[in-house]
Amino acid sequence: MAYKIDENTCIACGTCAGECPQGAIKEGDVYSIDPELCIDCGTCADACPMAAIAPAE
Ligand code: SF4
Repeated sequence: MAYKIDENTCIACGTCAGECPQGAIKEGDVYSIDPELCIDCGTCADACPMAAIAPAE
């Protein structure tokens, strides 16, 4: 499993990318999480000011 960013909620502030210990979050039109690198620590979800990040279903 990996965490996932809701692209409709993300405001591309970049806070999560700065917090991820794995460097798993990449910039784009909105940010996205590489499921191959994510270790499910939840740091990004706690840091996101928009609550746009949650564990993937
Ligand atoms: Fe990075 Fe942890 Fe978020 Fe996965 S859950 S993207 S490892 S901060």
